[in-house]
Amino acid sequence: MPDDAPPPPVLAARDSDVGGMLVRRALPTRGRRLIGAWCFLDQAGPVEIAGGPGMRVGPHPHIGLQTFTWMIEGELLHRDSLGHAQRIAPGQVNLMTAGRGIAHSEESPGAHGPRVLLAQLWIALPDRVRHCAPSFEHHADIPVVAHQGLVASVLVGSALGARSPVRVHSPLVGLDLLTPAAARAHLPLEVGFEHGVVVLEGEATVAGQALAPGQLMYVPPGHGALTLETHGRARALLIGGAPFEEPVLMFWNYVARTPDEIAEAAAQWNAGDPRFGEVRGFDGPRLDSPLPPPGLRASSG
Ligand code: MN
Repeated sequence: MPDDAPPPPVLAARDSDVGGMLVRRALPTRGRRLIGAWCFLDQAGPVEIAGGPGMRVGPHPHIGLQTFTWMIEGELLHRDSLGHAQRIAPGQVNLMTAGRGIAHSEESPGAHGPRVLLAQLWIALPDRVRHCAPSFEHHADIPVVAHQGLVASVLVGSALGARSPVRVHSPLVGLDLLTPAAARAHLPLEVGFEHGVVVLEGEATVAGQALAPGQLMYVPPGHGALTLETHGRARALLIGGAPFEEPVLMFWNYVARTPDEIAEAAAQWNAGDPRFGEVRGFDGPRLDSPLPPPGLRASSG
């Protein structure tokens, strides 16, 4: 980014409660709905869960999106209505493609470690694939690249000479950037992509601006590089993608285009319709879907 460029805007994340755990929601946030097809970014933790139940999110449906779970500390057990029961450990990714409909639950395993830190993101599916059959992938083989003091995990797309095995349906990138000690790194960016940066732990200066946990920096298309500087151990997440041109309607766990699609999914889930299947093995109730309010409208950007 040239020195005379205006500084990228920094937006505040919002704190929410998900399954009894405080999470920090960087996307969507006031002023920014999407970054590429990334339409949701929650950071859960770091939190101490020793002696407690940890995270427990009962069975709930999704449509029209992929859920992308990046485990940094601790473990989580995913169960879905296709019959998968998959533990995810640090350095691993769970990718669930909802397509026309799926249900899942997420919980801390019975014997769990003392701390949890994870990021869960959603990726809006483009029109041509959003009604596809649901599927699930577990990835224990995320590439890790050393770059100018960074330990970079290439979560999605291609960067720094490595390519993620995670299958997505639009041009996207996702990087976990850990600096074990003070570092100053120059990160090449795809010029046509828009990008976002959040700091998960510690503090970092990105494109010359201090960025604290709970803030999202938005970098519009047109930038070929970004500098990231830290004074000690820190971790940031960089996401990006080609601006998503389709209008997107998000409500609860649904990504769609029209209010009717949302209303139909909500009614079907609440009626136990076979569209979503059944999650087996979760010790607790399924979540009821709220119904969309009148006046719900699609938005983009
Ligand atoms: Mn979910």
